[in-house]
Amino acid sequence: MKNTSAVLVTGGAGYIGSHVVKQLGRAGRRVVVLDNLSTGFRQAVRHGELVVGNTGDMALVEDLLHKHGIQTVLHFAAHIVVPESVSDPLKYYRNNTCSTRNLLECCAAAGVRHFIFSSTAAVYGIPENTFIDEDAPTSPINPYGLSKLMSEWMLRDLAAASDLRYVALRYFNVAGADPEGELGQATPEATHLIKVACEAATGKRSGLAIFGTDYPTPDGTCIRDYIHVDDLARAHLQALDYLEGGGASIVLNCGYGHGYSVREVLDTVQRVSGRSLAIREADRRAGDPPALTADSRRIRHVLGWQPRHDDLAFIVRTALEWERRLAVLDWAGQRHGV
Ligand code: UDP
Repeated sequence: MKNTSAVLVTGGAGYIGSHVVKQLGRAGRRVVVLDNLSTGFRQAVRHGELVVGNTGDMALVEDLLHKHGIQTVLHFAAHIVVPESVSDPLKYYRNNTCSTRNLLECCAAAGVRHFIFSSTAAVYGIPENTFIDEDAPTSPINPYGLSKLMSEWMLRDLAAASDLRYVALRYFNVAGADPEGELGQATPEATHLIKVACEAATGKRSGLAIFGTDYPTPDGTCIRDYIHVDDLARAHLQALDYLEGGGASIVLNCGYGHGYSVREVLDTVQRVSGRSLAIREADRRAGDPPALTADSRRIRHVLGWQPRHDDLAFIVRTALEWERRLAVLDWAGQRHGV
């Protein structure tokens, strides 16, 4: 039977959260989005009610949980820029870790039963193996990864002490945009490879650099496991079904299980866009492991999740289409009115 109780989505106006909210809408779920719009966009919330506020605001969260009888929380709200987490660690511990703690305290008090948490492959740090399963040691090398790992630990401990059950999804390299063209990554000054390359291909920046060409990989550049945001969003809905069906707390990698090098990504962007990019070879970026790919057998087995867009050209095509559309929509330019 269809579940009609409302779910709370923190960070639902952001890149990944907004795709999940759209899919929740399609699935007929009632949704309350809590987002402070610091990096998210009002226009990205295609479904449900948007409440503008902070995840760490306990009075507000308590009120929302009670008012809407919420049993399930999907928690996306976080800062995600790794270099910024190095220069301003307390910002990350406040917004990612302390806010999650406050949110969890509210959830515990209100008897929330299900929690889906946006975690990250950054919890693995620089792993010994390049094909990583969920039992690999966690050893983040930056405050961003640590702020997320601490949240996983709080969830684990709270789940052990209460009836709350959770799924922590460790995202690998999320990319691409809504295949229907309504949503995508809109934050200015993005740093992620596919976004940056698509900005270059659409003339929003003059070119880009490859950070490191002397890695021990076949073409000397880093290998990453790029997952389409639409497939990732669907994993959240399946995690929700899993928890509502009585599933036990679990940590799951989200990736396809194979990767592409930086050069392969840039070749694909050039081929799909028909533009040649101004590419510069630069030094390695601090803290980049040579290769990171997800052992995704657990999520496939436990949730029955099957990727639909395991195709780099498709990921790039949707990202490029979104970049063109965003130039017209100009969400960031309209922010003043927010
Ligand atoms: N990268 C690059 N040039 C850029 C952005 C990224 O060469 O302008 C490389 C980066 O060094 C890494 C890969 O692309 O090897 C993916 O980086 P991204 O920042 O997208 O994600 P991360 O793996 O760091 O989470």
